[in-house]
Amino acid sequence: MLRDAVRSLAEAKIAPYAAAVDEEARFPQEALDALVANDLHAVHVPEEYGGAGADALATVIVIEEVARVCASSSLIPAVNKLGSLPVILSGSEELKKKYMTPLAKGDAMFSYCLSEPDAGSDAAGMKTRAVRDGDTYVLNGVKRWITNAGVSEYYTVMAVTDPAKRSKGISAFVVEKSDEGVSFGAPEKKLGIKGSPTREVYLDNVRIPADRMIGEEGTGFATAMKTLDHTRITIAAQALGIAQGALDYAKGYVQERKQFGKPIADFQGVQFMLADMAMKIEAARQLTYAAAAKSERGDSDLTFQGAAAKCFASDVAMEVTTDAVQLLGGYGYTRDYPVERMMRDAKITQIYEGTNQVQRIVMARNLP
Ligand SMILES: Cc1cc2nc3c(=O)[nH]c(=O)nc-3n(C[C@H](O)[C@H](O)[C@H](O)COP(=O)(O)OP(=O)(O)OC[C@H]3O[C@@H](n4cnc5c(N)ncnc54)[C@H](O)[C@@H]3O)c2cc1C
Repeated sequence: MLRDAVRSLAEAKIAPYAAAVDEEARFPQEALDALVANDLHAVHVPEEYGGAGADALATVIVIEEVARVCASSSLIPAVNKLGSLPVILSGSEELKKKYMTPLAKGDAMFSYCLSEPDAGSDAAGMKTRAVRDGDTYVLNGVKRWITNAGVSEYYTVMAVTDPAKRSKGISAFVVEKSDEGVSFGAPEKKLGIKGSPTREVYLDNVRIPADRMIGEEGTGFATAMKTLDHTRITIAAQALGIAQGALDYAKGYVQERKQFGKPIADFQGVQFMLADMAMKIEAARQLTYAAAAKSERGDSDLTFQGAAAKCFASDVAMEVTTDAVQLLGGYGYTRDYPVERMMRDAKITQIYEGTNQVQRIVMARNLP
C-alpha cells in the first residue's frame, strides 16, 4: 500500500518536473511541497516527535519510489534521515524534541556535514575545530559537498574537540543556518543529481550553546559512522529506484521501437539484456530490504550488510542505466529521453556516503 501510494504521488507530482529540475539545475520545490503535503519528506522521525514513525524498510520504499522518477528529489527524505539520525541515535531528549518536531512538520530540513576539502574517504582527518568557551563552543572550518546546504535549516556538524585523539577527539553538534558565522559556497556544477544542491558550508567563529553537542565529547565520529551504517541503505534504495526507473522506461521503449520490420523487443539479444537488468535489480532489492530489516533490529552484522547493499545496488544502478541508454540507441544518448539523466544520476551512488572502494574496506573489516 505504501509503495502504491508513493508511486502514484511520485508519478503525478514529481516525475513531470524531473527533466526541468535536471536541465535547470534547480531545487525540486514541487517535490518538497508534494512530499511535505503527504508526510513523506522525513518518514523516519518517530511518532513521539510528531513524525510518521516509519521503520527502515518503509523509509527505503519511499526513497526507492521517489528515485524511480527523480533521483534529486529522493535526496529530500534520504538526507533528512542522514542529517537527523545522529540526534536520534545519540542526542539528548531536549535536542530530539527541539529539532525533530520542526523536521517532522516539514518546517525544516536537516543536512549532514562530515566531509571537508581535504578529508573525504579519510573523514577522521578533518580539520574543522570546536573549542569550548564557558557554556558555549566556537566552531571554525569548512565542510564540503554538503547536500541541501543552504536549503536545510539544521546541520549536524562533526568537528575536532581534541586534536591529539584523532577519531576519538571528534564531536558532533547541531548548527543552525541562522547561527552567526554560518555561510555557504556556490552550488557545485555536477554531472548528475543536478536538482540536489551541493555546497560548501563555512563556519566562521560560530558560537553555539554547549548543549547543542550530540552525545558526549569525543563520540562524534562514532555517531557519524553508526549513522552511515543505517543510511547507506537509503543510498542503496536510491540506486535501486534509479535502476528500476531505467528498466521500466527501456522495457516500454523496446516494444515500440521497430527495426528490421519488428519491435526490437523481439530480438533475443535485447531480451537477454532486459533479463540481466531485471535479475540484478531484484538481487539488489533483496539485499537492500534485508539490510533495512537489520537496521531496524540493530543486528550485529549491520555494518557489513549496509555497506554490501550500498555497494552492490549502486554498481547495479550504474550497469542497468548504462544498458538502458544502450537499448534506446542514439535516442538514449539525448536529453529527449530520461535514461541519460538516470545514468548520470546513478554515478553518484557509487561515490557518496563512502565510495565503493571504502564500502569494500568496511566489508573486509566486518566479514560475516
Ligand atoms: C554530490 C555529492 C554530495 C555529497 N553529499 C555529502 C553530504 O551531504 N555530507 C557529507 O559529509 N559529504 C557529502 N559528500 C562527500 C562524499 O561522501 C565524498 O565525496 C566521498 O566520501 C569521497 O571523498 P572524496 O571526494 O574526498 O574522495 P577521495 O577520498 O579523495 O577519494 C578519491 C579516490 O580514491 C579512492 N580511495 C581513497 N582512499 C582509498 C583507500 N583507502 N583504498 C582504496 N581507494 C581509496 C576513493 O575510493 C576514490 O576513488 C557528497 C559528495 C558529492 C559528490
